[in-house]
Amino acid sequence: MLTFAVKKQYGYQIMAARLRFKVVDDAFKRAPVYVEQPKERPSEYFGKYVFNKQKMYKYLPAKVYKKMCDVIDNGAPFDRTIADEVAQGIKTWAIENGVTHYTHWFQPLTEGTAQKHDGFVEHDGKGGMVEEFEGKLLVQQEPDASSFPSGGIRSTFEARGYSAWDPTSPVFIIGDTLMIPTIFISYTGEALDYKVPLKKALHAVDKAATAVAQYFYPDVKKVISNLGWEQEYFLVDESLYVARPDLVMTGRTLMGHDSAKNQQMDDHYFGSIPVRVEEFMKDIEILALQLGIPCKTRHNEVAPNQFELAPIFEETNLAVDHNMLMMSIMKNVARKHGFRCLLHEKPFKGVNGSGKHNNWSLATDTGKLLHAPGKTAMDNLRFVTFIVETLKAVYDHNGLLKASIMSATNAHRLGANEAPPAIISSFLGKTVTDLLEHVEKADDDNLSMVGKKAFKLDLPSIPELLIDNTDRNRTSPFAFTGNRFEFRAVGSEANCASAMLLLNSAVAEALIDFKTRVDALMQKGEAKESAILKVVREDIKHIKPIIFNGNGYSDEWKAEAAKRGLDCETSAPLVFDNYLKEESVRMFEKTHVMTRVELEARNEIKWETYTKKIQIESRIFGDLCLNHIIPVVTKYQSVLIENVHKVQDIFPAEKAQKISKENLHLIELISDHETFIIENVEKMVEARKVANRIESEREKAIAYHDTVAPLLEEIRYHVDKLETIVDDEAWPLPKYRELLFIR
Ligand code: ADP
Ligand code: MG
Repeated sequence: MLTFAVKKQYGYQIMAARLRFKVVDDAFKRAPVYVEQPKERPSEYFGKYVFNKQKMYKYLPAKVYKKMCDVIDNGAPFDRTIADEVAQGIKTWAIENGVTHYTHWFQPLTEGTAQKHDGFVEHDGKGGMVEEFEGKLLVQQEPDASSFPSGGIRSTFEARGYSAWDPTSPVFIIGDTLMIPTIFISYTGEALDYKVPLKKALHAVDKAATAVAQYFYPDVKKVISNLGWEQEYFLVDESLYVARPDLVMTGRTLMGHDSAKNQQMDDHYFGSIPVRVEEFMKDIEILALQLGIPCKTRHNEVAPNQFELAPIFEETNLAVDHNMLMMSIMKNVARKHGFRCLLHEKPFKGVNGSGKHNNWSLATDTGKLLHAPGKTAMDNLRFVTFIVETLKAVYDHNGLLKASIMSATNAHRLGANEAPPAIISSFLGKTVTDLLEHVEKADDDNLSMVGKKAFKLDLPSIPELLIDNTDRNRTSPFAFTGNRFEFRAVGSEANCASAMLLLNSAVAEALIDFKTRVDALMQKGEAKESAILKVVREDIKHIKPIIFNGNGYSDEWKAEAAKRGLDCETSAPLVFDNYLKEESVRMFEKTHVMTRVELEARNEIKWETYTKKIQIESRIFGDLCLNHIIPVVTKYQSVLIENVHKVQDIFPAEKAQKISKENLHLIELISDHETFIIENVEKMVEARKVANRIESEREKAIAYHDTVAPLLEEIRYHVDKLETIVDDEAWPLPKYRELLFIR
């Protein structure tokens, strides 16, 4: 039924099924055009659709405004008695902006965000209707949440989950809807989302880091965790996308031979941005800025059709919300431009995958903690302390840190083209490495001076420039880059909260432990500076295995890392085990971030999600093989066979044999590939059946990893070979060379 056509679109040829094109053309027409080009400057329309402090000042009574500032700036508890007044102010502002609906916006343990829209309208009791929005609707809702994953915490008959407003993330408007950022918890109080543990981790790191920062700067009242994410993504033409069922169903191509040209010329990175893509970027930036996301950087990435967007860093909780919002804006706006935005970590084999570097730092209410000012010895000791304790957190929980970024999709990226390896280590650069060595080896004479009248610490002051000049080792998953650490193993599709809640709580634990040891020494009469230095020196020795300044891609590093005792596991289901190790549970409980019950429940979800992803991939892959590839290949083989027969008809046997030599070879080759594909698709289906019967989610995920996933790769090899043999016109899927080059 499907005849093929060549369609000229945007000046280049796309081959796809006519029927499918029709679907796409209709989709283009339906796509909403909602990005009006503003007449104002970005600085003027920034935050236009956010109920930020400026709006609060305008729409709330003075005393309510003051209370809200206290909640946002100082973490004061939200006082329910002002809820109605806040809701009134928000409603007035929202209605002025054409809003008719509102929704609690939360981050369940699926990908993306969840929302259920309700109208403002209510009966007025006189036969008409009126817009209503009370405080209680703002503050709390009870979504029927039975179909969100809970890992068994909330059984379906006890379907209640609560979403509660998080006033530290401001409400905003999208289209006609007021979006209210909320946390999501079960009836019994367990977290069912990413936000609750994230907020607890941020609280823990604030407490722990403030206490340590006060050794150096007694005035410090608060420590803030900052996050600057860099979002990588691919764009593909929408008409090609819909002709690839694997992309539609799984977000990645499960088959496809390398394009003759991909990224080998290094001509895409920082190259000039294709015009169509630039139009897309402009639109997403306008929307983002209007929603208060401080977009700053846009550029081409390494792989063809790969791009990046980065805002200026923000407080971590807000930055996480903004990233979730940004990902949904990107997906929506892409369609308006006839693109699909791929956030999968590895949409294409053989070219770079996409990550989301998480630039992380701590700052106090009076200054920064990872900055090296090089003014006083005490400043330098503060710098060394926070660097070392961060590394201690990363070292002590390196397996867990990997678990926080591991997923069925990110597993394809780690260890592949230009992605960090699946081993967590830290690059410090020469200046900082030397500095730590210097501190460790400073002789005791020097230390004995400490605590006498003039505190003199033999640390060279560190010129900031030098630290900033760390040659950026791109192979390191956790690199120090001047005034922050850059966690590069985070996947492009991931919710940053997973990595950030882990990092912040692990650092909190390290700092709590640090303070306990320093205080113990001080109680024994040791001077503060000397006590700090002693503990820091102890920890510098301890963290050595995590520091690695060499090439993270090399095989020598893999061997060396194993020798150092770092977690080298690559199987995602086994990597998840790290969450349930005793030291992990202890850390989460000590910092009050998650309980054992929550951790166990979350792991059930992780294993189940992993299984489902591989299951879907395997199913669609099997379908593609048997319903798309094999029929086309068989048809092409028949053409060749027919040709051989015809040659026999018109030539004498010996000559015919000679003429048909290549075709005969091809016919055989095709048979071999076909046989392998058919046999192994069957084997894969069997492997799935066996795995599906396994009760335990963990064991099932392991079975999917060990017995189903490898077959996808093995079979793919043969499909990709066939792609190079079969008539291009007959090939049923758009090829890499078409998918990867937008003109
Ligand atoms: P690169 O691609 O070289 O790593 P980018 O300029 O693309 O760097 O992105 C750097 C990111 O790091 C931005 O989001 C920036 O705001 C963020 N950043 C800069 N300084 C800090 C800091 N002290 N803490 C957290 N993030 C930071
Ligand atoms: Mg970066």
